[in-house]
Amino acid sequence: MATEYDFIVVGGGTAGCVVAGRLAENPDVKILVIEAGITNPGDVDAITTPARAFELRDSKYDWSYKTTMIDRPEYTRIEKPNTRGKALGGSSCLNYYTWIPGSAATFDEWADFGGDEWTWKTLQPYFYKPATYHDDAGLHRPELKYIGQSGPIPVSHADLIPEMAPFRDALTKAWVSKGEPLTDDVHNGTMRGLWKSLNSIHAGKRSSSWLYLVDKPNVTVLGHTIASRLVFSSGGGSTPKATGITALLPDNTPVTFTARRELILSLGVFETPKLLLLSGIGPGPAGTFLPSPHVGRNLLDHPILPHVFKLRPGHGLDPTLLHAGPLRDAAVSQYRWKGTGALASGLLELVGLPRIDDRLAKIPAYTAAKAANGGRCPFGPQGQPHFEIDFVPMFSDAFQWHIPAPEGDGGEYMTVIVDLLRPLSKSGTVDLVDGDARTAPRVNLNFFSDGLDLVAMREGVRWVDELLMEGEGMRDVVVGDYPWRMPRAGDEAMEKMVLERSQTGFHPCGSARMGKDIEHGVVDGKLRVHGVENLRIIDASVIPVIPDCRIQNSVYMIGEKGADLIKAAYPDLYA
Ligand SMILES: Cc1cc2nc3c(=O)[nH]c(=O)nc-3n(C[C@H](O)[C@H](O)[C@H](O)COP(=O)(O)OP(=O)(O)OC[C@H]3O[C@@H](n4cnc5c(N)ncnc54)[C@H](O)[C@@H]3O)c2cc1C
Repeated sequence: MATEYDFIVVGGGTAGCVVAGRLAENPDVKILVIEAGITNPGDVDAITTPARAFELRDSKYDWSYKTTMIDRPEYTRIEKPNTRGKALGGSSCLNYYTWIPGSAATFDEWADFGGDEWTWKTLQPYFYKPATYHDDAGLHRPELKYIGQSGPIPVSHADLIPEMAPFRDALTKAWVSKGEPLTDDVHNGTMRGLWKSLNSIHAGKRSSSWLYLVDKPNVTVLGHTIASRLVFSSGGGSTPKATGITALLPDNTPVTFTARRELILSLGVFETPKLLLLSGIGPGPAGTFLPSPHVGRNLLDHPILPHVFKLRPGHGLDPTLLHAGPLRDAAVSQYRWKGTGALASGLLELVGLPRIDDRLAKIPAYTAAKAANGGRCPFGPQGQPHFEIDFVPMFSDAFQWHIPAPEGDGGEYMTVIVDLLRPLSKSGTVDLVDGDARTAPRVNLNFFSDGLDLVAMREGVRWVDELLMEGEGMRDVVVGDYPWRMPRAGDEAMEKMVLERSQTGFHPCGSARMGKDIEHGVVDGKLRVHGVENLRIIDASVIPVIPDCRIQNSVYMIGEKGADLIKAAYPDLYA
């Protein structure tokens, strides 16, 4: 095996595969991808079958991080597992598919960190470049093709499976009856209303970033291999230069690989800062090689509050997907022979993106925070939605592992996920536990460190529950809370419930954020690590302001933009 390459991409995840695939467009350029997980996710049924996504939690394809969720003086919760993909394609092999960019105004805030190259207008083409949009059944406006013309990732609208029609209809009716809008386009920088989700699924199969590497013989992928330390040249200049990476092969033998041009770190939001820390780049005493105060700081994520309603028969997919019996047998057979039906569904057909100003305006703590913010809503100063609300028409234990699964009662359920999109808490951290590259880092998401997030979440749950329990159509479908009643009447009881049941939205980012200089962030606007030559970070770690929706489209965008930044630096290779 060669040990010298033009570029080495460390971490073959979502962004890593994008970068490697784009750099490989010059067939003379040799690229190594070092990946800790499997290299053949396309052969794994549980990964490729859309409706099996929830089964991947805590599987051998999951890093299953132990994570501090909440770290408040009166309440701390540490739990396991927190999912991240361990496979070529990374978390794009384990995620829940929604393909959505975010609000223009939120990306414009990135310019304060990365400069003028990081605004919605300049980034817009990169949001669309990864995808090819499909509407095989011709159900949507042809104009929506702009979402993706020729990228390697096929995306399509939620499959609208017939079993879910009564659920969809009731939910849409309830949404409209409360005066809320519907939308069919959230990719133009504005997102508001109930939307038929677009997913990284097409023709019954998951689309993951390893698709960028298909037919790229100049990319060598080394699987089951753990990157453990960066190697720097001791050369005469004042700025150290990254020259290589030491990695542990599957039998734990260390091997050092050398990059003729650059190393690109794409190990994801927890492992990228860990590798920097292991290599002596970090804050305080961790910065033995290079003090860099933001490594492993500024960790952001969306807190979510998942909860469950029991539904009247005919509205949930539990009998079709979760219970052994003729309905499930038929679904399995339909998927096997035709690639369609409930198993081909990402299960998240409808996504709501509301603001709840009227409710928040009644809360003194909120109005005080708004006044202190120059009269602008702290959660959505430019009209961004306050929440993403996902409606899964069955019991989903991937979101609700704290509560007993309703086994054997033959019932039908709905899991509602309330996701606070622009939380004010911004103090998560990633730290080393020890010096062994195989040890997981210590992750603290530190949700609700700002108490106003707790209030907002409480109100978001009340808002959507009122819509579901009282809205036209849905009020005839919802039977009641499962497994116990939500304490909707009391503020204190609601906040306690939020602390006890909230979860990661699976959108952590920001742990090696962009910044103007080393005192402001870890990488510059070209994604180069401040204080080191020949080293870039291209993954969710560099995100300075969390997107106000799910983040895979943003991560693919960063991969595409990052690849172009590298190409621009090497005109001899990419003229
Ligand atoms: C369960 C789940 C559901 C989600 N649902 C959605 C959704 O519906 N919509 C959406 O937009 N987003 C969703 N996301 C978020 C989105 O998928 C991620 O933010 C994104 O994929 C992260 O990409 P990344 O490149 O930063 O990291 P990753 O894709 O996680 O890639 C990191 C890679 O580095 C490898 N690696 C790590 N350490 C080492 C090491 N030491 N040596 C070698 N390799 C290493 C990992 O194995 C992995 O392949 C979800 C995420 C999860 C986990």
